[in-house]
Amino acid sequence: MISQMKEDLKRIKCYHMSSYLDECISIGKEQDLSNIEFLRRMLDSEIGGRNKHNLSTNMRMATLPCEKNIEQFDFKFQTSITKKQVNEWMSFEWIDNRQNLLLLGAPGVGKTHLAIATALEALYRGYKVKFYSMNEFVEEMIIQEVNRTSKKWLSKLMKFDLIVLDELGYLPVDSKYTHLFFRFVNECYEYRSLIVTSNKVPSQWGIYFGDESVAMAILDRLLHRSTVIKMKGDSYRLREKSECNTKQKNGDQ
Ligand code: ADP
Ligand code: MG
Repeated sequence: MISQMKEDLKRIKCYHMSSYLDECISIGKEQDLSNIEFLRRMLDSEIGGRNKHNLSTNMRMATLPCEKNIEQFDFKFQTSITKKQVNEWMSFEWIDNRQNLLLLGAPGVGKTHLAIATALEALYRGYKVKFYSMNEFVEEMIIQEVNRTSKKWLSKLMKFDLIVLDELGYLPVDSKYTHLFFRFVNECYEYRSLIVTSNKVPSQWGIYFGDESVAMAILDRLLHRSTVIKMKGDSYRLREKSECNTKQKNGDQ
């Protein structure tokens, strides 16, 4: 009878309950569990197992370049934002409300670190996330257009709750493709959330996109109901380098 139940559980796709059944029965006997307690444990095993499986699938799909978390972020070094502010945006109301987050600032101030840490936390909370460097994104966008698969690609992208575009501003987008990026931002507008990091202030985006009016239309949609964080200060990379040099110097003496 038990083996038949296990097969039936598998048939209705409750794989975790199926493999937990034997153990749960023996715990039930040992601890004299009531029917309700028994059922609770079985459900917990299925829900827990599915959550774990979904998280690992979502993590794989997210293609984060590396794992960075907020505990590793030194708020004493980067004072343009506070831990409290970051904790607030980690409640992800802005994703539920389909709003955006823009992190602006010079190289090394921690934009990518914060974008990855936010993406990671969103994944832990069950959101579907996709991470791109802006260059990768533009490349993929052009390939999809050339292959005439843009529509399918866009509808796949719209399945993510949050899309991160990291480092907008380094390699300019050829103006003949700017309208494609506009189309993407327009698809996301009030429907999906974006995190955009950039070393360029919005007034320079016209040059980056090679077309002032389309750049303005892109900005208009991105900035509407979004949080903009201007990160100031020195580069953390250079700090690490100068600390290293100081240590070396002291070591030399
Ligand atoms: P940006 O994207 O602004 O150019 P990054 O986020 O890539 O900068 O930061 C460069 C390096 O410095 C990364 O390894 C990052 O983890 C680290 N870093 C930047 N700011 C901080 C910070 N405030 N606390 C801890 N590490 C930081
Ligand atoms: Mg960066």
